[in-house]
Amino acid sequence: MSNNKGKLIVISGPSGTGKGTVISKILKAKPEFAFSVSATTRKPRPKETHGVEYLFIPKKEFKEMISNDEFLEYAEYVGEYYGTPSKYIKDCINSGKTVLLDIEVQGAKQVMERMPEAETIFITAPDMKELEKRLRGRKTDSEEKLIARLARARQELKEKKHYKHTVINDEASRAADEIIKIIDRKD
Ligand code: ADP
Ligand code: 5GP
Repeated sequence: MSNNKGKLIVISGPSGTGKGTVISKILKAKPEFAFSVSATTRKPRPKETHGVEYLFIPKKEFKEMISNDEFLEYAEYVGEYYGTPSKYIKDCINSGKTVLLDIEVQGAKQVMERMPEAETIFITAPDMKELEKRLRGRKTDSEEKLIARLARARQELKEKKHYKHTVINDEASRAADEIIKIIDRKD
């Protein structure tokens, strides 16, 4: 166990901006960083694996975890629940590991309140047109869900001002490098 506390890095921003893509690039460049695997009630996408992208759990189990106070934060997003299990975060911080969270804005707000020392980064696409193109290109959502995600994105963009940093994901490798610099700057 290290004497140095690990850092909590909150990466947020609208769905489809490329958070997941940028985070995979960061983790490739910095394998010593940890990723917080969230729990969700959403159904897995074809290439997703339980325990890797998410812990895919039924609503009943999610609600039990809420009752047992097992989440650092949780939120409802487009009809499903998403939450960050506290234990893994606590373990990372106590063992000196930098841990990355990929969460939406309501959850990020809860983390800012509970852990104001967290580094907070808001990722955007260059513009709304590009965001829609990315969401459509991903082909993971029904038209109804896609429209709901875009509507949500317009609201979420208003939260940008509460973050310590904003990064435009124009090119994923460049955005990943910019975030790594932000994280390393604080050492
Ligand atoms: P999020 O995790 O924010 O929902 P994803 O990482 O799933 O977003 O990215 C959404 C889609 O946009 C994916 O199809 C991904 O390949 C694509 N994408 C991500 N970053 C870029 C980029 N910089 N330029 C073009 N397309 C991108
Ligand atoms: P998706 O369904 O596209 O994987 O995720 C939808 C949204 O939920 C994304 O904005 C993603 O960042 C967010 N999300 C993922 N995990 C969590 C979590 O644990 N808590 C919160 N609040 N949001 C999450």
